[in-house]
Amino acid sequence: MSLESQIRDLARSVGYAVCRFTTAAPFEDYRQALEDRRRQFPEAADLYAAMRGRVDPRGNAPWVRSIIVAVRDYGKYALPAGLAGHIGRNYLADRRIAACPDSTMPKRMKEGLIALGCRVKAGGVPCRAAALRAGAVRIGRNGFAFTREHGSWINVEAWRVDAVLAPDEPDPEPLCPPDCRACQDACPTRALIAPYVTRMDQCVAYLTYGASEPVEAGLAAKMGGWVYGCDACQDVCPLNAGRWRDEQQAPWLEAAADRLTPEALAGMDESTYRNVVRPLFWYIPDTAEGLARWQANARRACGVCAVGVAEERA
Ligand code: SF4
Ligand code: SF4
Repeated sequence: MSLESQIRDLARSVGYAVCRFTTAAPFEDYRQALEDRRRQFPEAADLYAAMRGRVDPRGNAPWVRSIIVAVRDYGKYALPAGLAGHIGRNYLADRRIAACPDSTMPKRMKEGLIALGCRVKAGGVPCRAAALRAGAVRIGRNGFAFTREHGSWINVEAWRVDAVLAPDEPDPEPLCPPDCRACQDACPTRALIAPYVTRMDQCVAYLTYGASEPVEAGLAAKMGGWVYGCDACQDVCPLNAGRWRDEQQAPWLEAAADRLTPEALAGMDESTYRNVVRPLFWYIPDTAEGLARWQANARRACGVCAVGVAEERA
């Protein structure tokens, strides 16, 4: 059996939905996109500069010959009611959560590759660009990676290896319907300023956990009911219709669900933050300031929720 076939079998056995290969050539389109964004949005230049190291897969590992990309499908999980719409689904089903059954997938993949005789380094490349070049995904105008079967409810992982693997071809089919701009229209802060162009410093996800505080009032007023992350541009996408499948239970969320509503988060105490919330979501630090940020995000979201309920009742 070829090494390529053995690696695909390994990925399937580990739980990945798709596995494909590309070369170790530098990602010139990605380099150009970073440069364009840096010029276009100098105020966010640091965010883009931090990504430059991923352009050349051989930059810090000259022995790399190929890149393996694999797709994890998290739309298989049944999410407890009341959480989607406030916490991004990607974070709810984050495979880095220790209790998530997918948490060991990258480690098992890497161990399997070593057992097949490969020298391996995980990550270190622009995963979506690598998956696009390998034909594992296509990119939507909202900037997310999609597969036909799973929509954008996926994560892409990549490994650099010393083996020369036959590269797969990109998928030539266009993805988005020609006239669709539902994602841009749904973006609450207008961070999606043009097809494929997201202003990271105005994206609600970044504003909830990464931006300096306080978030500028005009932007904060547009953030809606989101406490942590944002799915607005994925929720409205027609390519995601019917792609969330609810096939597997998510017990790590069920146990915590009543403490993850905006109302509960707004009033949570330090013990709940440390023992329930922080082990699930860790982009906000485990400090008093971190707890205050969660509470402020949740209070803002509750204000929006209360307005929404009042409008519904009127
Ligand atoms: S995640 Fe939310 S804020 Fe960010 S681009 Fe999508 S809709 Fe806009
Ligand atoms: S909402 Fe429309 S334009 Fe945006 S990613 Fe989905 S199909 Fe493409």
